[in-house]
Amino acid sequence: MKRVLITGAAGFLGSHLCDRFIAEGYHVIGMDNLITGDMRNIQHLFKLEHFEFYHHDVSKFVFVPGDLDYILHFASPASPIDYLKIPIQTLKVGSLGTHNLLGLAKAKKARMLIASTSEVYGDPLVHPQTEDYWGNVNPVGPRGVYDEAKRFQEAITMAYHTFHKLETRIVRIFNTYGPRMRLNDGRVLPTFIGQAMRNEPLTAFGDGSQTRSFCYVSDLVDGIYKLLLSDYALPVNIGNPAEITINEFGEEILKLTASTQKIIHTPLPKDDPKQRKPDITLARKLLGWEPKVSRAEGLKITLDYFKSLSPEELAKSAPRFA
Ligand code: UDP
Repeated sequence: MKRVLITGAAGFLGSHLCDRFIAEGYHVIGMDNLITGDMRNIQHLFKLEHFEFYHHDVSKFVFVPGDLDYILHFASPASPIDYLKIPIQTLKVGSLGTHNLLGLAKAKKARMLIASTSEVYGDPLVHPQTEDYWGNVNPVGPRGVYDEAKRFQEAITMAYHTFHKLETRIVRIFNTYGPRMRLNDGRVLPTFIGQAMRNEPLTAFGDGSQTRSFCYVSDLVDGIYKLLLSDYALPVNIGNPAEITINEFGEEILKLTASTQKIIHTPLPKDDPKQRKPDITLARKLLGWEPKVSRAEGLKITLDYFKSLSPEELAKSAPRFA
């Protein structure tokens, strides 16, 4: 039985990855420091023989007993308001945490996959974004702590690959959504759904003409799984190229929730990327992968998830991104 370590296991993506690897017949070792993760996301796994969990911060030395075949590093705050609240931890988990896990991968002769991001492209001047674009990142802006940690993460991962001949994989993840997102994490989808469910207006930042391209979580997990098992070490974009403005997205959420509210406009946060859309030519060719779940289908499942939360949870609105 193959053994896989998944960091950030109690988070949105980490918990879905745990589910997938369990379903594929792996022994899964989850790790999380629970700063932004939530044990409820993996509660259902504790009864399984082939799941174990370590409450640990990977910025500190990481010890895991026994063999490891794969390491997937998904621990990191991932929402812009989190980077503002915990900027140092965000930098540390992407840099020191990655270094510790690369060391562990080397010691165990494991293959390591890191969760990189479309944020390495910053506020992109090339559209759609191809893997060979180097990006337009403000290192000292509010997003710099995340973007630069992830850029460093890619660089140190490639260095271990070339210098130590470690088997490594780099996925650049674009905006992803689905059940287990935190309702108050400040990102646009949970914010809009929460606002619509509380019968509040939706807050589109700026004039709402900025674009994003939203991928349903099962599609993303499938792309990651295929990339891990491929033999390609350079970065690969995984995302859904269906691009939409934030205004259009707000209209879709109002319709989906049958809300009679309006979209209002509040100030645009600093360095908010104006456009984002993955070019997935490489993933199509290399992995035979492309997204299957439409926004209409994915949003319906996600709304059902948010509807299943307690009224106390639904009442919590997100703090503002200044
Ligand atoms: N956004 C918005 N209203 C909100 C939250 C976010 O208009 O209440 C916008 C945000 O300015 C950005 C887009 O939605 O242009 C996506 O934001 P998110 O934080 O979800 O992710 P990002 O892609 O910026 O990391």
